[in-house]
Amino acid sequence: MVIDCKHVWNNISGYLDGTLDPALLQQVQKHLEQCGICSAILDSTRNILILTADERVFELPLGYSDRLHARLEANIRGISPSPIGG
Ligand SMILES: [Zn+2]
Repeated sequence: MVIDCKHVWNNISGYLDGTLDPALLQQVQKHLEQCGICSAILDSTRNILILTADERVFELPLGYSDRLHARLEANIRGISPSPIGG
């Protein structure tokens, strides 16, 4: 199974939460190793999560996903992904 950038972005919160299936987790990790765009997004997402989490035990407010997605979209546009492979 080969996953693309969009697939990684869709699963990035699960990746950070550690809730992905082991098989999918492996694919995401593999992709992150070879994709600078996704590792940059992972870094930003992690920073956002740290800011969002504050000092509380990861109680994410309602609408969190929407905001995360908005931030991801902004990041993705800023980074201008180029096709990988080939
Ligand atoms: Zn990627």
